[in-house]
Amino acid sequence: MKKLKKFFNRLFSSASLPAHSRIFDVEASRRCNISCKFCPRENMKKIGMMEPGTFDNFLKNARLRSHDTVTFCGLGEPLLNPSLPGFVTQLRNRYHHFNIGIITNGTLLNPHTVTSLLDAQINSIMVSFNGIDAQTYENLTKGARFTDTLAKLEYTQGEILKRKNPGTRGTQLLVTFILSRENLHLEEKIKAFWYAKGMRSVPQYMHNRGGFVDINGIGMSPVYSGEPAGAPVQSCAVFENFNFIAWNGDVLVCCQDIQHRFVVGNINKDSMSLIHSRKAQIIKENKWPDICRNCTEPNRLQPADDTGTYI
Ligand code: SF4
Repeated sequence: MKKLKKFFNRLFSSASLPAHSRIFDVEASRRCNISCKFCPRENMKKIGMMEPGTFDNFLKNARLRSHDTVTFCGLGEPLLNPSLPGFVTQLRNRYHHFNIGIITNGTLLNPHTVTSLLDAQINSIMVSFNGIDAQTYENLTKGARFTDTLAKLEYTQGEILKRKNPGTRGTQLLVTFILSRENLHLEEKIKAFWYAKGMRSVPQYMHNRGGFVDINGIGMSPVYSGEPAGAPVQSCAVFENFNFIAWNGDVLVCCQDIQHRFVVGNINKDSMSLIHSRKAQIIKENKWPDICRNCTEPNRLQPADDTGTYI
């Protein structure tokens, strides 16, 4: 689990997440404007965008605390939701010290969206960008152009630097990329590519997203093979540390449940404490959903760290 927490500390700049910072992943949109080779989009059952009313219910029922972390991410592109800048502003107005982030494919970063995010003092803009040349990037990211997206990242980085005051955390732009066995040897080269542009990059390890991605069929094999699909599940750091709120308010066991088969509650009507007690029951009774058995997420079978769970 320490891996997971370290990853989040890197995402959110120099500050360390407090031990009991709860992490909420909020799916502002499950619609997407591109199609990535490693995304299980064709298996998704429910597709839509979070309504402002659902977000209000999230604010009401999650009973957020000042040191919590909210990341707008999920199975779609958050910047497609026109309400997203308003969501970030609502969070920022509530707690000045909130850690607020977004994970985006970067194609919709433009003067309007970037200004809105920076005005709302978002802490972290994480861009999923796979490939450091046009051929690799456009093969993995259908519908996006390498030079266009790269220019958007550079523009965003420039705007961030213009606003950065010395001594403040400001906004951080971070590039994430998937590492599989096939491109593992390129890790340092990829990092150096982004470093030369003044950007930090963090790898994420390929896995089968709860069994919904045919990793062999796309030529992206997982780096870790010590936790095979089929092994009995006794803990999962993702389940214990993240609260995934889908666009329609469903709280899923985790973002891998793209068919909403294992819904722990709905934020439009359930309190977070009720949802947490249901999650705690799953852990206590060791009754893990079927989807966990097929999953090869590297943090599967890892317990939460010794600071306790975040749920
Ligand atoms: S084992 Fe996999 S599917 Fe199950 S909660 Fe963890 S990450 Fe999600």
